Amino acid sequence: MNICLIGYGLPCLILANILTNKNIKISIFDEGNYKKKFETRTLGIAKKNIDFLKKESISIENNAWFINNIKIFNESQNNKEILNFGPVDSKIFSIIKYNKFISLLEKKIKKKKLIHFIKKNKTTFYNSIVNNKNKFDLIVNFNENNKISKELFFRKQYKNYNSSAYTVVANHQKCDNRIAHQIFTKFGPIAFLPISNTQTSIVFSVFEENKKFKEYEILNLIKKYNKIYSFKSFSKIEKFYLKGSVLKNYYNKNILCFGDNIHKVHPLAGQGLNMTIRDIKILSELIDKKIDLGLRLDKSVLKEFENKTKHYNYLFFSSINFIYEFFKFDSKIKNNYSNKIFNLLENNTLFKKYSMNFADKGLI
Ligand SMILES: Cc1cc2nc3c(=O)[nH]c(=O)nc-3n(C[C@H](O)[C@H](O)[C@H](O)COP(=O)(O)OP(=O)(O)OC[C@H]3O[C@@H](n4cnc5c(N)ncnc54)[C@H](O)[C@@H]3O)c2cc1C
Repeated sequence: MNICLIGYGLPCLILANILTNKNIKISIFDEGNYKKKFETRTLGIAKKNIDFLKKESISIENNAWFINNIKIFNESQNNKEILNFGPVDSKIFSIIKYNKFISLLEKKIKKKKLIHFIKKNKTTFYNSIVNNKNKFDLIVNFNENNKISKELFFRKQYKNYNSSAYTVVANHQKCDNRIAHQIFTKFGPIAFLPISNTQTSIVFSVFEENKKFKEYEILNLIKKYNKIYSFKSFSKIEKFYLKGSVLKNYYNKNILCFGDNIHKVHPLAGQGLNMTIRDIKILSELIDKKIDLGLRLDKSVLKEFENKTKHYNYLFFSSINFIYEFFKFDSKIKNNYSNKIFNLLENNTLFKKYSMNFADKGLI
């Protein structure tokens, strides 16, 4: 069995590792002209997903910082806490630096004899895939901008957030740092995600419909909304334009799209990669089933994958968009709705339990 993976981001490297655990040959086509970015981006990975990765010999715990509480605040009520998901005994999420995670996976991949990199001209390679002249059992495409996506997977539903996410790592005085904070401000949600006792990663997703922000303005807003840390310095700031999308059809012949290529969501819930890890688990189980039955890997596995995941992913995408729209609207009317609703929800243990499950396990 031979599976081709087109990409080189986190989902691609995680899947490559997991598939080789099943003795499947992996060919990776990496366009190679991808400039290293994401120096300040961090990822919150849900406990359930960390456990799954560990079972697949991808252990990130030693390189991640666990948090045991998430607190949500609202700007208009003098930064009043509106929700609190802890403290809990177990780790709710662990935060890892994006590039640290990539290098961990790269190290593992280098040791795998079953993985090789395809060295071919881009046009020749993509033509062979689009024209169905390839030798692979399955192809997994992570890149939404290549010829395959443009010619075979153009039916997408888009969500324009009119926002950019600014990411920066703050160095601060030592403190007990196990609580993540998110404040819904009139500019957009700002998250403080601890990565050590002296460093916190900040993701500020700013509405930019009417105004483009300068870096110094973002830093000033971060300082204004910070009520916890004594900042010493900041890393450089990176900016990501935010666009949401879901793909209408996940597969075409033996080609499956994957990762942000099938669902791209706003980072306010820290769920993009978490959704993909849950997809990987499902795909992995479907492949195991075929192997156990002595069947070939063909497009039937892709069909089953789509049937099992598409509606849940769509619901997840819609729920995150609802939260985004709700707070955007609410901030325009001075948090009139959220104040009342969250006063009720803060005391509702069932709601809190459900939300924690939603973030940890997804909808399945
Ligand atoms: C500001 C921000 C914060 C986020 N925080 C979280 C979070 O806390 N938790 C969470 O679960 N998700 C989070 N996400 C979402 C998460 O980053 C994405 O879901 C995940 O990175 C998608 O991976 P991808 O490979 O599908 O796409 P991308 O990483 O966007 O990559 C796009 C394409 O480039 C290729 N590529 C990527 N990196 C490389 C590389 N180094 N070399 C060569 N090619 C490359 C990929 O293969 C793919 O083809 C966040 C997103 C943003 C914008």
